Amino acid sequence: MTKTKIDPLKRVEAEMKKCVKCGACRANCPAFSAFEREPATARGKVALAQHVMKGDITLDDGTYSAMSKCLLCGSCVDKCPNQVPTDEIVIATREALAQRRGLTTFHKAVGQVIKTRKLMNLGALAASVLGPLFFRKVPATSGLRLRFPMPFLGGSRHIPQIAKKPFMARHPEVIEGEPGKPRIVFFVGCMTNFVYTEIGEATLALFKELGCTVIIPGEQQCCGLPGMSGGDLDTVRELAERNLEALEGHRADYVMTACATCGGALHKLYPLVIGKRNPELKQRLQALADKTVDAAVLLQKLGLDPEQTGAGEALRVTYHDPCHHRTAGIAKEPRALLKGTPGIDLVEMEGADRCCGLGGTFNVYHYESSLKINAGKSAAIRATGADAVVTGCPGCIMQLSDGLKQAGDKTRVSHTVELLARKIRR
Ligand code: SF4
Ligand code: SF4
Repeated sequence: MTKTKIDPLKRVEAEMKKCVKCGACRANCPAFSAFEREPATARGKVALAQHVMKGDITLDDGTYSAMSKCLLCGSCVDKCPNQVPTDEIVIATREALAQRRGLTTFHKAVGQVIKTRKLMNLGALAASVLGPLFFRKVPATSGLRLRFPMPFLGGSRHIPQIAKKPFMARHPEVIEGEPGKPRIVFFVGCMTNFVYTEIGEATLALFKELGCTVIIPGEQQCCGLPGMSGGDLDTVRELAERNLEALEGHRADYVMTACATCGGALHKLYPLVIGKRNPELKQRLQALADKTVDAAVLLQKLGLDPEQTGAGEALRVTYHDPCHHRTAGIAKEPRALLKGTPGIDLVEMEGADRCCGLGGTFNVYHYESSLKINAGKSAAIRATGADAVVTGCPGCIMQLSDGLKQAGDKTRVSHTVELLARKIRR
């Protein structure tokens, strides 16, 4: 794809002007609750973005650091009287900073990895074999930590084990269903493919149960969200185009994902970052976005009967709304399916739709703050007395598991589809 010199801040110039500096966004901002400083608020970031655009500020490490203190959760937008899209403004500013000063070494490496599926497959294979040696019970003083100076190895973080065989390597590209039933393209996502393969298996089992034909295009790539966190929007655009090629066609009725983050990329991010630079491409990406649907939403729409698929042991559960679901208005569908599942008792936690603190590479660069936000979520989960917390995003599953384990809590963390498929996967 041709790289462009368009200033990304132009894209959000009019939106920035809508900020009246009232500060109403502070109350809802998890970054502000963690850092307790004005630059971490939506208001602070909009003001900083305006300075970057005017060019009257030094683009030093402090500017980068301030702009990295955002989870892109979109919570501020809900509270803003003028609906200022601070998340979109932060995305544009991070790209502008990357254009003006270059990407960080870490984000350059992230971009290379997520653009090269072979590298991801190889890395996953190596991690599945070597992971247990390096990540389990490594003492804090171990020289291993010193020899592998990776930012995400810090602290006592709980890192999930990589699967021995990726989900996509276990299944053919086309799993034929019954004639006349919907044809569904499954966008798997990296976390489900390489880490939480059981989410993929449960999703597949449910749509097979409904008689659907499921197509898992082998050419699909990472959604690109990890690149976006560091301002590497060129990588996101490249992946958007490659995913478009892989997913469109197939005579599909729906493009389905069981990952809220991937859904957010396909639905909102891709058409947004293409902008006005390529109208024909934007139109195709919008058509892809219009066909994209979350697994729980589609299961409900197609009439899944959770009595037939999910009945199982008695379990008290609480539901965490991923930010990418909250912003897309997805909340009642997973709850309705869970409530209809024999054995499941759904209890609401306080602040179910509050961000868990993951926020892409926010969790890498600001791990202590991410953990602080996560601790509030763990406390809310614990207060319900639930045996399990359920959600619709593998990224949230990783984050919630880490937070609960850090608190010495044994509450299970599951994906909605895993509970909905308990009976048929027994
Ligand atoms: S982003 Fe919205 S809520 Fe926050 S200060 Fe600006 S106008 Fe007020
Ligand atoms: S997107 Fe989330 S973290 Fe970022 S400013 Fe808004 S509320 Fe705060």
